[in-house]
Amino acid sequence: GATLYVVATPIGNLADITERARQVLSAVDLIACEDTRHTQKLLQHLGVRKPLVSVHDHNERDRIGQIANYLQNGQSLALVSDAGTPLISDPGYPLVQALRGQGFNVVPIPGPSALITALSAAGLPTDRFAFEGFLPHKSGPRRERLQDVAADPRTLVFYEAKHRILDTLQDMADIFGPERHGVVARELTKTFETFYSGNLTELVAAISADDDQQKGEFVVMVAGNPAPAAATEIDTDRLFRLLLAELP
Ligand code: SAM
Repeated sequence: GATLYVVATPIGNLADITERARQVLSAVDLIACEDTRHTQKLLQHLGVRKPLVSVHDHNERDRIGQIANYLQNGQSLALVSDAGTPLISDPGYPLVQALRGQGFNVVPIPGPSALITALSAAGLPTDRFAFEGFLPHKSGPRRERLQDVAADPRTLVFYEAKHRILDTLQDMADIFGPERHGVVARELTKTFETFYSGNLTELVAAISADDDQQKGEFVVMVAGNPAPAAATEIDTDRLFRLLLAELP
């Protein structure tokens, strides 16, 4: 039957397109994409010409009915985003949820994602990790979010934009403590790919020392909390305050 293929595309290096992605993009009737101009460039590189329909955060819900109609009429579609795997900090979740809910075929075509690419070479534990995506843009809510995961023993993975990278690393040093180990992966699969590894203070210093290191795309990984939060200490502290409040 008609199928929606969720197709991963390169995160910078066009040679990372998979053989299946190529085949599927050539075979479908229509490609739903985040940014038609961006996807047009990829298709040009692949020598593929297809009608495109834009699906982004602002129109995705309106598009669902339209795409369900295409599938109903027997047309197959591919969903791609600007880079990497759709739905991973990218549009597509409401569409996939709705179409699967309506019983349509949804098939993944796996490929690059910045989070897995970064983790695979960072040298941090990968047996358990938590993907936290993008943090809030404003410092207050960002620090609250960091506080929420400060005790997590799993490796933490974040996406960050260049104009916030230093502020975010500084907030991480404040909330997780300056000694917590982290790895910053920049420009993965591209010419100026770099990995910085060190404690959070060292990372802030290294990246603020070099303007070039504040350009491009970033994945920030932080080692999980090495010890579970000292629950007994927090409990006694809290107990003490509760008791104090009861004193005459
Ligand atoms: N769907 C994509 C994926 O599977 O990785 C992520 C899309 S999200 C809108 C874009 C963010 O992913 C960037 O701000 C950056 O944090 C990260 N990213 C994407 N490509 C990257 C690359 N080549 N190097 C480092 N980070 C990258």
